[in-house]
Amino acid sequence: MAAPRVFPLACALQQYAWGKKGSGSEVAQLLASSDPLFVIEEDKPYAELWMGTHPRGDARILDSRLPQKTLGQWIAENQDSLGPKVKEAFQGRLPFLFKVLSVDTALSIQAHPDKALAEKLHRQAPQHYPDANHKPEMAIALTPFQGLCGFRPVEEILTFLAKVPEFLFLIGDDAAAQLRQSLGQGPRVVGAALQSCFSRLMRSEKAAVARQLSLLVGRLSQQGAAGSLEDACGELLLQLHRQYPGDVGCFAIYFLNPLTLQPGEAMFLEANVPHAYLRGDCVECMACSDNTVRAGLTPKFLDVPTLCAMLSYTPGPGRDRLFAPTQSAQDPCLALFDPPVPDFTVMKVEVPGSVEEYQLLALDSASILLVVQGMATASTPSAPEVIPLRKGSVLFISARESVSLRLAAEGLLLFRACCLL
Ligand SMILES: [Zn+2]
Repeated sequence: MAAPRVFPLACALQQYAWGKKGSGSEVAQLLASSDPLFVIEEDKPYAELWMGTHPRGDARILDSRLPQKTLGQWIAENQDSLGPKVKEAFQGRLPFLFKVLSVDTALSIQAHPDKALAEKLHRQAPQHYPDANHKPEMAIALTPFQGLCGFRPVEEILTFLAKVPEFLFLIGDDAAAQLRQSLGQGPRVVGAALQSCFSRLMRSEKAAVARQLSLLVGRLSQQGAAGSLEDACGELLLQLHRQYPGDVGCFAIYFLNPLTLQPGEAMFLEANVPHAYLRGDCVECMACSDNTVRAGLTPKFLDVPTLCAMLSYTPGPGRDRLFAPTQSAQDPCLALFDPPVPDFTVMKVEVPGSVEEYQLLALDSASILLVVQGMATASTPSAPEVIPLRKGSVLFISARESVSLRLAAEGLLLFRACCLL
């Protein structure tokens, strides 16, 4: 009998404190739906589901013909499953980590280094930068997903400097004037002015930040009580301050675009783009790496000098940060989120309930399939029995395997991570 090349996975749960609690978490819902023995505890956070081979969360294979194996171990012994190009380009390893995130409290203000900087940081400080790889990442919303991404247009930042005296106090009049004078000049001048403003904020003394924040929070709370809170940013500042009192990252909302992704919308975070996830559920795919440079809204290690030096100081409107998928010309059910990096592509497959049978394309790459909605049975030429799929099921599909899905009554929503070289 041929060895199995398509099989279900049991994936690793991460219960970080920032995760949504109990059955409000999409991660918890997916686990409870796919595993009848899984019990959701309402007071526990369910932050991340890891679908991949990362050593801190290597998926377990659910196939009695492959006992006690993790996906990472199996791929190491069956490298052809990656597909020849992926095997060659990524030294016999799965190049991506696929996740579901359920965020309740903000994750740090951060950016990820490009390859050259990752190598340098890893050489200089391996305790903080555990590998030499870059970490581009993409988030696709499952529920309305709130985040911060990229620098706002300069005009907006100047408006906050004029309206929020506590913010101006930390930036200082000189840096603020430099930013004002850069308006209408070339990107180099604007970028330099923005960098000096942002660095001034991030390097402010802790005590000064705490004092200005408490003034600002006091003022906004009074406005809130009187029903006259100025705009959405006041609300957001109070929300972040409740989560991270006294943290300089609260002021970052005046520099970075707030963005709410609607279900199916995505943002791609290329190297050096400042961002933070604030609240909501998403699927996320990233290159296999742990390299994150942080500067606020976190109890973790901060590296302000590195972050300020590495960022892309390219201002622009928040909507420009949305990453649009490409609709497949051959398959009306298939949309591709294909970022400009080799490490991963995410496919979104939405099959209407009127379809009885749907064929998943054979790819030149190993892939991981997540069922977000619906039920089906999967069959492949190499498997003697069908594999039942329901919300929360995760399937590993070796390269060049085609899988046919027989749908139950309702439609299907699937996400599939792969590597299209
Ligand atoms: Zn990130």
